[in-house]
Formats: sequence, structure tokens, C-alpha cells
Amino acid sequence: MRPRLRRTADPRVVTEQTFWTRAVHAGRDDLTDQGLHAVPLDLSTTYPSRDSRDEAERLDVMTTGAQVPGMPIYARLGNPTVARFEGAIAELEGCESGVAFASGMAALSACLLATVAAGRPHVVAARPLYGTSDHLIASGLLGNQITWADPADVGAAVRPETGLIIVETPANPTLAEIDIRAVVDAAGGVPVLVDNTFATPALQRPTDFGATVVLHSATKFLGGHGDAMGGVVTCAEEFAQRLRQVRIATGGVLHPSAAYLLQRGLATLPVRMERSSDTAAVLAERLLAHPKVSAVHYPDPSKLGQLTTGGAMLSFESEAPPHEVVSAVRLITPAVSLGSTDTLLQHPASLSHHIVAPQDRAAGGIPDSLLRLSVGLESPEDLWHDLDQALDRTT
Ligand SMILES: *Cc1c(COP(=O)(O)O)cnc(C)c1O
Repeated sequence: MRPRLRRTADPRVVTEQTFWTRAVHAGRDDLTDQGLHAVPLDLSTTYPSRDSRDEAERLDVMTTGAQVPGMPIYARLGNPTVARFEGAIAELEGCESGVAFASGMAALSACLLATVAAGRPHVVAARPLYGTSDHLIASGLLGNQITWADPADVGAAVRPETGLIIVETPANPTLAEIDIRAVVDAAGGVPVLVDNTFATPALQRPTDFGATVVLHSATKFLGGHGDAMGGVVTCAEEFAQRLRQVRIATGGVLHPSAAYLLQRGLATLPVRMERSSDTAAVLAERLLAHPKVSAVHYPDPSKLGQLTTGGAMLSFESEAPPHEVVSAVRLITPAVSLGSTDTLLQHPASLSHHIVAPQDRAAGGIPDSLLRLSVGLESPEDLWHDLDQALDRTT
């Protein structure tokens, strides 16, 4: 687990507190002096003011995406509970700013819209990506152009109008790892966005390797309990302003109740990731030895030196019909999504990556036999017993 934070929300400040400590305290530093313990949950949709001239002035600044001190004016423009979560995850990712959205897809949409609006609509991306991310980028629905490139060929795909490079590492659902530093070196100054949903800053901080934009489906490990949907981008304040400008105009805001739950999830993030990683490593090894499993995909942290552990996600190629395995589990939850306290099993070709055309799935290295496991906090022995009996019961 990461021992120290090298940077805080203010990159000039070096903190000696450990990642574990900051995961608990980030976004809460002011509470004691306010006589509070739990994070205040502000559900206001509007904020009264008797000074509408002052509000008009502040509104002019807010709609540029810049942050303005004082209370928000309207909940689509900002919310204090959401701002706490944004500050906390930005600190944990070693970024200046965070901008939260209603979902991971809303977060990615804002990145694409901001890129297109800046007049550099060409995107370079490496497969595989999460299914709907692949679909959104490939469809050009938001006005972007796309060149898919192997990570090694990103440099050759960059054009003068390229505004963003998008990678996922470890990638959903194959756990393929990309050398972030090599992509950044090839990018020629084009911002590199890393979807860090699988690793979380507990295991990998993309900015340590030169990435400038980090995206999360906060719905997954950050929240950690499968009960709050959200997305967040951490980056430099300059890009954050463009994202807020998009968010104010398009309205994909994170609900404060979700922000409250996501902030609470951060406190246990390092503990959950460590425990689930340990269990995932055990399951990966045992699956590899199972006669009905032909391959196991689980990151080796020593390979690129980006991850501190292999993480809580694994996938495996089943020689048994994958649909039968999904329906045979009894303890494991047969469900799409990931990052919850309970272990989830799903078939990417049917669910998380169903929206991606079969030939594009193949290009991303996603066979129909692949099953994806999100390892939770149960006992490794109980989980293994369930997987083993499920595989054995198949035809
Ligand atoms: C789930 C997921 C997303 C999309 O996030 P939502 O919160 O479902 O919108 C994006 N990237 C990855 C890697 C994901 O797993």
C-alpha cells in the first residue's frame, strides 16, 4: 500500500501523513473546529440571498467554471457536500482539483465535450475500455473523432487536432496494463486521461507517471458498497474549470447524498483494497489450476511498477459455458458492476461490454469465454468453495 503522499490538493504542500491517514481525513480537516464529526449533508437546491447584485457578479464568474468563495447560488452550480468529496479525491490522486458528476459516464462525457469545445476534437484511445466508454467514444455522439491505437503506437496516432488520449489501466475487463509513462512520453504534450477505476489511488496514482487527467467511476471502489452512483475527474485547475463550465451547462451533477456516501467510502478505501487484493491473488492462483479454466488475467505489480498490489479485479477464460458458471454461483452475486463489499461475477460479452461490437471486443482481447470477478471482503475460502462448486456443476 502507498506509504506516503507526495503531494496534496495544493501541489506545493508536501504532507508527511500516510495515504491511509489522508484517506480517512481528506475532506474532513475543518470539521473538528466546527464542532462536527460527520460530514454535513447539504440537500439545498437553492441558496437564499438578499443581495442579487452580488449574486449576479458571482454568477458571471461561476459560469466560466472558476470557483467562487461563499455559498453556491443554485445546486447545479455547486454544492458544499460534493465539494468536500471533490477535494478529498483530488488530494488522494495527487491532483490540484476534482470535479464530480452523476456517474462515470457523465464524467467521461464532460471530458469529451470540453475537448471538442476547445477545438481539438480528435481523441486517441487504446482498447479495451469499459464497454460504454468504448461505445461513447467510438460513436462520436458528442462530436469527437477517434483513432484506436495500440498503446505502443499512440504517438503515431496523434494529430494537430488531437485533444485527448484515453487509456484504462488495468483495463476493464481484461486487466491489461498500459505503461502510463510511455504513453505520456509519446503524447507530445496532449493530455493523457487514465481511467483509474480498477486500481484506485490506493494502488496506483496515474499522476505519478505523468498522466494529467484521472477519471473514476466512483460507483465502484471509491463508494465501495454498491449503493451510490457517481463519477469524478481529478486534474489541474485549468481543465477542472472547463469541466465545471460543461457541468453547469449540461447538468450532470452528483447528488449530495451520493457525495456523502462516496466521501464515507474513501475512509475505508485502503483497507478494502488491501483485503480484496489479498483474496483476489489467492483466487487467481487457484483458478489457474482449475481444469475448467484455460487462462487467468491478474496484474503482476512488478511488471510495470505502477501498481502496489494486483488489485481486487480478475478475469478468467472458462472452458465451461460462461452463462452456466454465472447461474451456478450461490454466495457470489451474479451481477454487473464492481467494487462492492460483496463479490460480483459477470460475463462481459453479455453485460459490461455487450454494447461493443463483437469484432471490436475481439480487437480489445475480450473473448466470449471471459468471466470477470470483482472480489469483495468475504473469506477467500468461502469464495473459492463457491467458484469451485460453480465450475464443477457446469456441463
Ligand atoms: C463502470 C465504469 C465506468 C462507467 O461508470 P458509471 O458510474 O457506470 O457511469 C467507466 N469506466 C470504468 C472502468 C468502469 O468500470
